[in-house]
Amino acid sequence: MSSGSYDAIVVGGGHNGLVCASYLAKAGLRVLVLERREILGGACVTEELFPGFRFSACSYYCHLLQSKVIDDLELRRHGFHVYHIDPQKCSLFPGDRALVVWDDVERSQEAIARFSKHDAAAYPNWVRFWERAAGLIYPYFLRPAPTLAELAAGLRTADDQAFLDALVGASMEDVVTEFFEDEAVRGAFIQAHDAGDPAAPGSAWVYAYIKCNTFTPPENIGIVKGGMGGITAAMAAAARSFGVTVETNAAIAGILVEHGAAVGVRLSGGGEIRSRLVVSNADPKRTFLTLVGEQHLPAGFLRRVRRLKTNTAYFKFHAALNRLPDLSRYLGSDYDARYLGYARISPSIGYFKRSWEDAKHGRPPRAPVMDIQIPSGYDPTMAPSGKHIMSIWALYAPVHLAEGTWEERREGVGEQMIDTLAQYAPDFPECIADWQLFTPQDIEARVGLTDGNIRHLDIVPGQFLATRPMPGWAHYRTPINGLYLCGAGTHPGGEVTGAPGHNAAQAILAEFR
Ligand SMILES: Cc1cc2nc3c(=O)[nH]c(=O)nc-3n(C[C@H](O)[C@H](O)[C@H](O)COP(=O)(O)OP(=O)(O)OC[C@H]3O[C@@H](n4cnc5c(N)ncnc54)[C@H](O)[C@@H]3O)c2cc1C
Repeated sequence: MSSGSYDAIVVGGGHNGLVCASYLAKAGLRVLVLERREILGGACVTEELFPGFRFSACSYYCHLLQSKVIDDLELRRHGFHVYHIDPQKCSLFPGDRALVVWDDVERSQEAIARFSKHDAAAYPNWVRFWERAAGLIYPYFLRPAPTLAELAAGLRTADDQAFLDALVGASMEDVVTEFFEDEAVRGAFIQAHDAGDPAAPGSAWVYAYIKCNTFTPPENIGIVKGGMGGITAAMAAAARSFGVTVETNAAIAGILVEHGAAVGVRLSGGGEIRSRLVVSNADPKRTFLTLVGEQHLPAGFLRRVRRLKTNTAYFKFHAALNRLPDLSRYLGSDYDARYLGYARISPSIGYFKRSWEDAKHGRPPRAPVMDIQIPSGYDPTMAPSGKHIMSIWALYAPVHLAEGTWEERREGVGEQMIDTLAQYAPDFPECIADWQLFTPQDIEARVGLTDGNIRHLDIVPGQFLATRPMPGWAHYRTPINGLYLCGAGTHPGGEVTGAPGHNAAQAILAEFR
């Protein structure tokens, strides 16, 4: 274990920890990153889950990684490469209908017209709506988080102000049903992410965060060469090139606090390392409730930390495939596996809502919404020759089960996902060589995410922009002097963006210099 003297210790080698460490080291600080797992990357990793089959074990779709971070860290020089996916998305419906959405708006309209001419005509307006909504937020990705009032003050016209006013309270269901009339088209476009319920007021506002991918250049959207671990491998190489010391198998048991200031860390394996400041890449609840310890924090602050929302969770299913499933009734025989760069099962808004209702009441959904990826169509190196891998991000998972334990339920939930997909591809069970299901509990154990929360905290109104992680604390500082947050629980939020790491480094450097 390193024993040199450091200006900054970064707790956790997730992608934001690596980004933050890189910027600090570039500015001349001596930086040590300590990661508890044997591999770096947190929720942005590639792992060989079955012999010869490598998977993006958690995140699997690169769409918000910031170009500035890619350039500043010279990630391409360190091997980062994305296979752009087009079609963007292929939604499958019971029967034989598929809706394929392309980068090209007119080509997408032709596909939508097979469902509804009205909806095909509305599609360009839908695209423009989200460009406008995301355009409100995107300028702040790499800047301090604005309050709503500050955001509104930056708008030029009364029309923009009216748009913001309407968006902030709108639900995804409001927006989708405003544009589209066909049940299947509505199902293909409905989303709710951490809001869960697509009817929840504000669910459209926070979805605009995800739609900031509208501004990501095509060469950075898609499937990462070598899996998502290709991103963090490049980041780790960049960090080391800037002089960062990076250690794995180095779990931190606690952050040392003396006289109200962070002065280093205590290692789980024993021993302490001192530093002038500490930056936590762990989520806010874990950072404050476990690593800092309640005795060092004001009671009011602690109460607010305990109330932070981690109420929305997801499953991740991985399968090693001996062959591609038969989807000929949708895509023709000998279909191109690249159609399954992002496939979706969400046949209607009602189906989506039932999945959320089940999870909300502690039940694994009887019919989960599934976002399916077969990346080996783009990157055959992920599987043995002629074979494939499939990963499914399944919505929604109960954070806490109403009945039983995950040990008792895991296999049944996985089998139910296989059965659900078999309704669309009947030979799917025979294609599977092996499979694994990650429950929220598994994700927590693997990555250290409280409640398995994939974005550290739900991205919901109240934990967004100047209120992320909580009002008054959106500036990466904490009540402990010299302790900062740099992970997905801070502005602008979760997903693989590099933005919290970038922003935290700027905040630290502004104070440290
Ligand atoms: C199942 C799943 C699917 C997802 N899908 C996508 C997707 O397709 N696209 C996308 O953009 N995003 C996706 N996300 C979200 C995205 O991956 C995360 O929001 C993002 O990776 C978080 O990065 P981070 O660096 O802030 O934190 P993390 O990745 O959580 O990293 C934190 C690190 O800190 C370490 N750590 C914690 N405690 C300690 C300790 N005590 N000592 C030492 N180290 C510690 C952890 O081991 C971890 O490596 C997904 C996430 C999950 C879990």
